[in-house]
Amino acid sequence: TDITTIRNFSIIAHIDHGKSTLADRIMELTGLIAERDKKDQYLDRMELEQERGITIKSQTVRIPYTAPDGSKYILNLIDTPGHVDFSYEVSRSLAACDGALLVVDATQGVEAQTLANVYLALDHDLDVLPVLNKIDLPSAHPEEVCQEIEEAIGLDCGDPILVSAKTGEGVKELLQRLVREIPSPKGDPHQPLKALIFDSWYDSYQGVVVLFRILEGTIKNRQPIRMYSTGKDFEVTRLGVFSPEPTDIEELGPGEVGFLCASIKELDEARVGDTITHPKNPTQEPFPGFKTVKPMVFCGLYPVEPAEYSVLQSALEKLQLNDAAFAYEAETSQALGFGFRAGFLGLLHMEIIQERLEREFGANLIATAPSVIYEIHKTNGEVFEIDNPSKLPSPGEIDTINEPYVRMEIHVPNEYVGNVFKLCEEKRGTQKDLKYLTANRVIITYELPFSEIVYDFFDRLKSMTRGFASLDYEIVDYRPSDLVKLDILINGDPVDAMSCIVHRDNAYYRGRALALKLKRLIPRQLFEVVIQAAIGSKIIAKERNAPLRKNVTAKCYGGDITRKRKLLEKQKEGKRRMKRMGSVEIPQEAFLAAMQVD
Ligand code: GDP
Ligand code: MG
Repeated sequence: TDITTIRNFSIIAHIDHGKSTLADRIMELTGLIAERDKKDQYLDRMELEQERGITIKSQTVRIPYTAPDGSKYILNLIDTPGHVDFSYEVSRSLAACDGALLVVDATQGVEAQTLANVYLALDHDLDVLPVLNKIDLPSAHPEEVCQEIEEAIGLDCGDPILVSAKTGEGVKELLQRLVREIPSPKGDPHQPLKALIFDSWYDSYQGVVVLFRILEGTIKNRQPIRMYSTGKDFEVTRLGVFSPEPTDIEELGPGEVGFLCASIKELDEARVGDTITHPKNPTQEPFPGFKTVKPMVFCGLYPVEPAEYSVLQSALEKLQLNDAAFAYEAETSQALGFGFRAGFLGLLHMEIIQERLEREFGANLIATAPSVIYEIHKTNGEVFEIDNPSKLPSPGEIDTINEPYVRMEIHVPNEYVGNVFKLCEEKRGTQKDLKYLTANRVIITYELPFSEIVYDFFDRLKSMTRGFASLDYEIVDYRPSDLVKLDILINGDPVDAMSCIVHRDNAYYRGRALALKLKRLIPRQLFEVVIQAAIGSKIIAKERNAPLRKNVTAKCYGGDITRKRKLLEKQKEGKRRMKRMGSVEIPQEAFLAAMQVD
């Protein structure tokens, strides 16, 4: 392929601004997807992605394009996820691009993720073309949005590209602008091979599949390759491109994007950010690599039935093969028995993994409330991290506890500023900045403890701003806080899986609220159930559920057969999510109760 005809680009956008729809339209207008194969959001392959309408893993597709003047191009569209949890994936996909289309919803304007994504793109020296989408809608106000783009981002928006990804209007013109304004890659086919791995995943038939972009040199099928960081050699067994289905190819040159298989058994042997080179003539300058991402949110995952432990274990193993950002290890809880501690990038990532475990692997799970990492400084000088509140040493041994803080930017219409302040203050936040994006849209910057966001921050923000707020955050550092462990006892037994770490000022209030919440969530049993909250040996709250009288259940079983069946059905449903502890049956929701009290 002539390198001057190649364009490697991403589409970046705030969630719901129309990235996937635009990708579909581009594939359709270039004839890549025939009318009969048309399916909305072609790139969002995983079932879960389709349902939630978000892109989780990035996908890449090679699109042959013939411009109106007859010249032919190869467009490599490198998809990126739009959610804040996955910004590391955005970053590595952008490293394979030379330009980006910045899609902004012309009815909404610039949002928090628009800015975050543009900064990532500019970090990678990409040429960014602003595209105003949804101009078919009467509420579109492209002129003002252009002004926002110029003022908030500093991008020239003098000659904006106006499109409707839905109707296809303007998309032909967009493609012409794209090949004109996004530069072609540079690279020399005669230099030693240097290719960047920007994604890799495990496929049960082919082993590890590697997505790469060639920076210098060429790759041929069946040639030997070396992974720069490990020095391990492999032989290419399959070379191809996604167009959109995998298509075999004999050779790829500089600037090109493709995939390869090379009998690689473990994901670790084809790390994202690593450089592929030739063993005989290795490059002297590898790609600098990426920061390895570290899980920031942790929770316990336990099988409902102890016998299902191995099912859960093999499901976790399989999931990890496709998601290097997800980590887990075996853990034992006094209350829940044998299970796992799992680490995630953020809350959405956690939800997605939990859902996939249940949906794709049929695992019945009890998940505990999420926790962040705390840095413990003991009085004896020891320093270590814990990802499980129950691991906190006793108060006498602790000198200080440091917790992670985030810097958060919230974009919100004027009238909700007061509500955002109120929420952030309640969450122990400190205001850092307030800027007007336009006359009635504000960017508020706060620093606040990450643990406060892990609970119900997003839901609360959404409801307090009627869904108009958007946000972006990053972890900045660890800071000392006056934190204590709140324990829950049921009939006198501590339930380690329900312990949580809270600020001392909120401990009493939260303890009482949590005990009350648990009283409501734990169904009455045939005997009395006493629920207590404690800090150390001090009981701070106590609730009791009176015993159930036997005839209450007996009565239900009278009636006709369908009602009885329904009742049994319902019971089974409930059982799935019940965990027996001692003699008490505790529903899944009770383990998440700490997330909902405020
Ligand atoms: P993404 O999250 O950026 O990938 O956004 P999607 O492509 O999933 O689009 C979000 C929603 O906006 C979907 O309901 C689309 O149908 C809708 N949408 C996308 N582009 C347009 C457009 O040009 N006009 C209209 N009216 N709706 C659009
Ligand atoms: Mg999408």
